[in-house]
This record gives sequence, C-alpha cells and structure tokens, in this order.
Amino acid sequence: MEKKYKNDQRKICNRLLRASNVCGLCGEQITKRKEATIDHIIPLSRGGSDSVHNVQVAHEKCNQEKGNKLPDEIKLKKENEHA
Ligand SMILES: [Zn+2]
Repeated sequence: MEKKYKNDQRKICNRLLRASNVCGLCGEQITKRKEATIDHIIPLSRGGSDSVHNVQVAHEKCNQEKGNKLPDEIKLKKENEHA
C-alpha cells in the first residue's frame, strides 16, 4: 500500500515536471529531479484535495519549509520578511 502510494507520487511528480520544472513555492527552476516533490497547494491536512488542480512541483527544501501552511500564510510570511 505504502509502496504503491510512493510510486503514484513519483508518477505524478514526473508528470508535473514535464509540464513545468519551476518550483511553485520559490519560483526557481528545479534542476535535479530528485529535488522535486509534490506540493499540495492547500495542504491535505488543511482540507485540500489530492486532485491535479491542487498539486504543483516544489523543491524538497521549499516543501519542508512550507509545511502545512496555506498559500495566504506563505505570502504573508514573505511580505513580512521583505518589510
Ligand atoms: Zn523552491
């Protein structure tokens, strides 16, 4: 079960990378495939869905930083950092 889920994730990740290799969180290109992770734009833990409309590729590092924040919360954080 776990293994199948991981394979699916890898497949989705590859598909997303073919469409765009730009990290949805920092806007930089993802140059190494092993750095690519699937980011749920609305985290599953916050009620987001697993549909293609709610996923994007992101660097593993960016994804970890984002944690379970909502897009609005990330934006606010970024604005605060620049202020
Ligand atoms: Zn990134």
